[in-house]
Amino acid sequence: AHYLMWFRRDLRLHDNTALAALCERAHDNDASVSAVFFLTPEQWQTHDMSLVQLDHIARTLPILANDLHKQLNITLHVQVCDSFSDCADSLSALCAANNISGVMANHEYEGNEIERDEEANKLLAKNDIEFIRWHDQCILPPKSITTNDDSMYQVFTPFYKKWRHTLEVSNIQLHKALAIDSNIDSNKAALKISKKAANTVDAIEALSQKVVEDYQQSLADNTQLSHIDSEAQLTNARDAYPAGEVVACHRLDQFVADDIHNYDVSRDVPSLHATSQLSAYLTIGVISPRLCYLQAAKAQEQLHGNDGDNEDINRWISELAWRDFYRHVLADKPKLIQHQAYKHETDIKINWSYNEDDFDAWCTGRTGVPLVDAAMRCLNATGFMHNRLRMVTAMFLTKDLLIDWRWGERYFMQQLIDGDFASNNGGWQWSASTGTDSAPYFRIMNPFSQAKTHDPDGEFIKEWLPELKDMPASTLHSEDKIRKAINTDDMFGKVDYPAPMVEHKAVRQLAIAEFKK
Ligand code: FAD
Repeated sequence: AHYLMWFRRDLRLHDNTALAALCERAHDNDASVSAVFFLTPEQWQTHDMSLVQLDHIARTLPILANDLHKQLNITLHVQVCDSFSDCADSLSALCAANNISGVMANHEYEGNEIERDEEANKLLAKNDIEFIRWHDQCILPPKSITTNDDSMYQVFTPFYKKWRHTLEVSNIQLHKALAIDSNIDSNKAALKISKKAANTVDAIEALSQKVVEDYQQSLADNTQLSHIDSEAQLTNARDAYPAGEVVACHRLDQFVADDIHNYDVSRDVPSLHATSQLSAYLTIGVISPRLCYLQAAKAQEQLHGNDGDNEDINRWISELAWRDFYRHVLADKPKLIQHQAYKHETDIKINWSYNEDDFDAWCTGRTGVPLVDAAMRCLNATGFMHNRLRMVTAMFLTKDLLIDWRWGERYFMQQLIDGDFASNNGGWQWSASTGTDSAPYFRIMNPFSQAKTHDPDGEFIKEWLPELKDMPASTLHSEDKIRKAINTDDMFGKVDYPAPMVEHKAVRQLAIAEFKK
């Protein structure tokens, strides 16, 4: 028998549920195993995947291929397909041509991904090929944490309590893929596969990088993104996120050894870089979320014994739970993927703005609000933005400018290295007060007070807005003061920075009135 592992957003060997199950089965049946990954740039562009995320996948594939080969004697084949339906066709053709009797993969929960898998399933079934999928993306799978009447929680806190309790009483284990016996006929591993494919580490690297270059070229034609220096963004993202599971696991170990112990206080200060910076790896599955949880739980136990309770560690574990929560929400409400608000009435009643000049000022970091602009310029230059700043910028767009949250959601996806539909949609709808458990509409963050609290010395602002480096923090933190400073003769013409584009107090009232209505 010959089995096939279909990799998607699970680009790792450790604790990969489908891979471990497949290897076990192959071991028991003395079968051989190959693996495949489909690069689908055209499809991903319709999902607004960022260039830096595609590049991260491209950098990861040769490492995955090498590890699979060396540790498990499995050959990875990487193939380019235009769309998801081409992928289902190619998979089915590949299986038919190579006498594959079973395919295994881990579930994905977004609409087109689900359709692709259903299509693949039908095609494979016609040839009596099994297609088995496993839940792997969450610590606890969607639909497993429900209320007493078996429905999905509408708010996070009770979800979290049950999620935590379930984990504490269950004994979650990491899955380990067994090395496949190497008495496999090596010819079998050389699948008959189309021309747009590669299976040596060098060829995978060349093919993946070619796909990145083409993607970069096609994005260059998008005039709305002309303010992005994609080359600089790529360089910064490559420096900040070296590829591969060894790096990701090492980053987790270091975070749990050092920074987790101050997480509760320092997680909200962007200039400290005190969060784990694991999201880019979690998003494409280079690290297992269960491993993240187990490492944190182990640190908790080492510190406090069995009934350990450490605020910092608990807080970090709760962030992992938010990630699970938003996937559970998506699985429960598939319409979210069609851009529908969770609170559907907000789609009907709120008169969102579609002012392109305002949106452009926000995207390019020229709103005149230093914290918002610094955050947007950081995103544009690096493909990453700190969580606190995601909330501040999203609230500014949806409340101060009253722009439709879907515009911001899309822009974030186009830039973020960790862009992930469920978490991004959840974060945007939280900020826009249209989502499950979202910020109440009248609690609108003041971006100047946020700067005062979370960037007290203006360190982060000055890093990204060097033109303001000589301005005292007290001016950066006050709308009145910065307006005056920019408008005085002293500053006029010397600093290329705009005065705040809106008056926060006034637009806040407008937003509240719109929501009240
Ligand atoms: P840490 O603070 O170390 O947290 C650990 C992990 O927990 C993260 O890697 C992430 O996987 C998860 N996590 C943390 N906070 C959240 C959260 N609020 N919601 C869901 N998961 C969370 N996260 C993404 O992974 N992809 C996105 O596209 C995304 N878009 C967002 C958009 C908005 C408007 C907002 C407000 C938040 C968004 N987030 C998104 C959540 C959060 O900002 C990032 O996960 C976090 O900044 C990543 O940094 P870190 O890995 O250092 O996080």
